[in-house]
Amino acid sequence: MNSVQIQCTRCKAMFRDRAGRLQDGYSRQCPCCEVVLFFAEDSQHPFIKRAMRNARKVRKELREAEAGRLSAAPEPQAAPRSRSSTGRTRAQGRAE
Ligand SMILES: [Zn+2]
Repeated sequence: MNSVQIQCTRCKAMFRDRAGRLQDGYSRQCPCCEVVLFFAEDSQHPFIKRAMRNARKVRKELREAEAGRLSAAPEPQAAPRSRSSTGRTRAQGRAE
């Protein structure tokens, strides 16, 4: 399964789209009410956040499945990301 479920932020309709497309900056129209949904990593909307998170998970699983086919020993888990204190004051980019 390489598609993820998306819920429209306006009409709440559920539909699916490919995880490979659902990345930061992607936008698509709801098939039900035709509102354009924007998918951004810094989105505050829970439906968008959930879709982005699911898409990331699916892409990761696909990558791991690929890797598993190539190398006999798949990695048990991704290394935990270390929180560096130097990145704290980085500008978030303009939200307009
Ligand atoms: Zn809709």
